[in-house]
Amino acid sequence: MKKEENFSEWYNEIVEAAGLCDKRYPIKGMNVWTPYGWKVMTMIDSYTRRELDATGHGEVNFPLLIPETEFKKEKEHIKGFDAEVYWVTRAGENELDVPLVVRPTSETAMYPMFSLWIRSHQDLPLKIYQIVNTFRYETKQTRAFIRVREIHFFESHTCHTTEEDAQCQIEEDIEILEKISRELCLPHFLLVRTDWDKFPGAYYTVGIDTVMPNGRTLQIGSIHHYRTNFSVPYDITYEDLDGEHKHAHQTTFGMSERLLGAVVGVHGDDKGLILPPPIAPFQAVIIPIISKKAPEQVTDACKLVTDILNRSGIRSKLDDRNERPGAKYYEWEMRGAPLRIEIGARDLENGVVSFARRDTGEKGAIAMDSVSAGTRMLLDDISATLYARARSVQDSSVTDISSLKDVPKGELDETKTDRILRMCWCGSPECGHKFEDSTGFKILGTPYGAQAFPGKCIVCGKESEKQAYAAHTM
Ligand SMILES: [Zn+2]
Repeated sequence: MKKEENFSEWYNEIVEAAGLCDKRYPIKGMNVWTPYGWKVMTMIDSYTRRELDATGHGEVNFPLLIPETEFKKEKEHIKGFDAEVYWVTRAGENELDVPLVVRPTSETAMYPMFSLWIRSHQDLPLKIYQIVNTFRYETKQTRAFIRVREIHFFESHTCHTTEEDAQCQIEEDIEILEKISRELCLPHFLLVRTDWDKFPGAYYTVGIDTVMPNGRTLQIGSIHHYRTNFSVPYDITYEDLDGEHKHAHQTTFGMSERLLGAVVGVHGDDKGLILPPPIAPFQAVIIPIISKKAPEQVTDACKLVTDILNRSGIRSKLDDRNERPGAKYYEWEMRGAPLRIEIGARDLENGVVSFARRDTGEKGAIAMDSVSAGTRMLLDDISATLYARARSVQDSSVTDISSLKDVPKGELDETKTDRILRMCWCGSPECGHKFEDSTGFKILGTPYGAQAFPGKCIVCGKESEKQAYAAHTM
């Protein structure tokens, strides 16, 4: 299957062929994580944990079920999730007195507890996170990692004394995001969502969007400022220095297995996955090239190199199965191992190991006596190349338009990537809705923290300094 010709089919095929998940589980949108896929996901989680722990967040684990009474406290929030939640209404033979919601996200599970935990300004800031599964009843076509009904989810929740402190938290979240996305080689846009598209209950939402190869954008995460929108209904208050009781200002930051979906879509090619080295279960795969000449020395050298690499912190696997090297190449290319190392009798004579890069297909040799330094250098270069490649796709995907006539008409041509529109918008919902209804494009939002961008609104022609991005979404 060719990625360029039919991205959708290519994606669906590759996630299973590469061994990331099994879609045959008998509930639509709930797939089985297979060992290789789960390993990649937990590597991604490990970077999330590293960054959250380093910034003073504590990891927690809240119950999956939320009483209806708590779930219904914040009105906007309910409206946003009502159509998507799963309910538990029976236990054994009995109807439950209070029906339980299976968490679609954890605000309504956590905030009743926050109101017990927070007493004084000394309890703030409160910064916690969890990595758990959430459930949303998707009615659209499901797709592995991208649109599922059971979602592997990271969410951080914070409480602060003031709106400004909460704003500083948003800045910290963005720094955390930059570090994680760098490991995944995923460039992205940070866009403040429109009022009609923000998270239900939020004061504002920053969407994190990455450009997929079919010209659509994929939201890989979001950051929200809640102000006191939740702390009022959930009664989360603290006593300040003057003994006055005030409501806490809150933020959240969430990302999910969509990160893996983006990695598959953005980096993969017709041969299969290409995993960025930081999240590859095996960064280097060592394959012996056995011939009549010195087979034992070759086997020993392969074991030794695997051992040296593993001991220097490079996750390496010796593939000494009794199969043709060609079949092994094919398999590891499909599974996206960043680097293949081959060792044969001739390599031993020359004091080298041969390598093949998964990202560029480039082949070469590394001196045996500097094999770990040489491998490390190649892995770093693979990361840099993957990022640069994705970045150039993102940059070239943006088209500036100044008139509605410039908007591509009809169905989205998924073989083209230059489908992210940038334009001036006065910010009014009237013009926003008019634009969306007449073009079929969705306004993703305005760049977070951007400079003024003077121009004329694409719909009403009024002078404005607001820049908006629009696209078709996954
Ligand atoms: Zn306008």
